[in-house]
Amino acid sequence: MMKQIKFEDYMKKLDEKLQKYFPSSFHPGEEALFKPIDLFNVPPKEAEEYKFKAIKYVFKHHYENNSFYRKFCKENNVTPDDIKSIEDFNKIPLIPDKFFKTYPAGKEFAMWLATIYTGEIPQIKVKNNDSYDDIINKFNSAGLEISYSSGTSGRHTFIPRDRRTFYNAEYAIAKSIITMVYPVWDYNSYGYLMMPNPFKTNVFAGKVCRVYFDVIKDVKVALDRELTTDMIQAAMQNNLKGRIIRFAMQRENKKMISRIINWLKEHHEKGDKISMVGAPFILYFVMEELEKNGEYLEFGDGSAIVTGGGWKIYEDKRIPVKEFRAKVERVLGIPHQNCLDLYGMVEGNGWMIHCPEGHYLHVPTTYYHAMVVDENGEEVAYGEKGRFAFLDGLATSYPGFIISGDEVRMYEECPACNRPTPVLEPEVKRAKGDEMRGCAEEMRRVLAMDLSR
Ligand SMILES: [Zn+2]
Repeated sequence: MMKQIKFEDYMKKLDEKLQKYFPSSFHPGEEALFKPIDLFNVPPKEAEEYKFKAIKYVFKHHYENNSFYRKFCKENNVTPDDIKSIEDFNKIPLIPDKFFKTYPAGKEFAMWLATIYTGEIPQIKVKNNDSYDDIINKFNSAGLEISYSSGTSGRHTFIPRDRRTFYNAEYAIAKSIITMVYPVWDYNSYGYLMMPNPFKTNVFAGKVCRVYFDVIKDVKVALDRELTTDMIQAAMQNNLKGRIIRFAMQRENKKMISRIINWLKEHHEKGDKISMVGAPFILYFVMEELEKNGEYLEFGDGSAIVTGGGWKIYEDKRIPVKEFRAKVERVLGIPHQNCLDLYGMVEGNGWMIHCPEGHYLHVPTTYYHAMVVDENGEEVAYGEKGRFAFLDGLATSYPGFIISGDEVRMYEECPACNRPTPVLEPEVKRAKGDEMRGCAEEMRRVLAMDLSR
């Protein structure tokens, strides 16, 4: 059994490591993120106070500083004065996630980003033949952190975060994970990121993992090459060009699997603690290979696996999360309590994460307001199926009031633990008719895992 560090000390250490993510002064959403020690264990009354201030503040901010969103509010007959309590949150107009895919090309793309952006976007010089990446990189050199994700249609979802909002997203993901895996996280352990290199991509799910490098002494990266919108766009599609790109990636992904296996064996031999973070299908193929060769490792309860981005393993096959955890336990010797899944998306800065007790996705309640809505945008009762929607108190550079294409059920209480937050069912799926997306799916297609079958 591990010597148990006190939770307060454990979290204090995290804040020491993440000092650079602290803003010089807090807006109400940041108070609600940085101040509570345990984001998933704030007494409901206190959480509601944080949340009301955070959402009210950010709604007023976008209403006043974003003319596109203000117009949208006027069409819906809502002003900040109408938001008097949490009961009024359902009046805040929600933007369908599809909206962030309706971008034009070239110079107009830069203008489109400026329209979504709240406040003054930095000035950049756009050339006629600039690609999406060229334009994003110019904005990002000027201080923004624009990122995107893709769907099977090949369209991207571009979200213009400023650095402050991006830092909040990074701090939030680290805090959510490290809180839930208590007391397992060890800053002196070794990490493997099953994602594109955060420093060489604008893919949100990759980029947001930069913070991983700040909370652990050594991180290796699964996919080190630069990833561009053009390449992802082609790979996401099931046409000839997509197949050619995927074919070219096939050798690379085989090498990747054997690199990860060597890394695992090396640290297993030395008795090191490890963590692996990222797309589950990569670890799935690693474990398949180990098992095929009759190799079983015993990392034990000081190591952790954190997955995110979806459970599709092959074009036509998903792996049940439970089965995945059993495999982790069997092949790597890491107990299922240390194998948690995370649910988030490029449009938001809130992270839903499994509790170790029952693997339900806990929703943060201080800076983030989650809802489940039907086709007309009306909220459904707890336990009923609908689309996941949220109000995000951390997004100050774009209006983070969003209806997603994900189908969920939310419960008022966790069936498995005592944390006082609502939960989503352990697995989130896309709503019927919505294109497949998710960071794991993006990686899976780029790496052409199907071909190695
Ligand atoms: Zn729970």
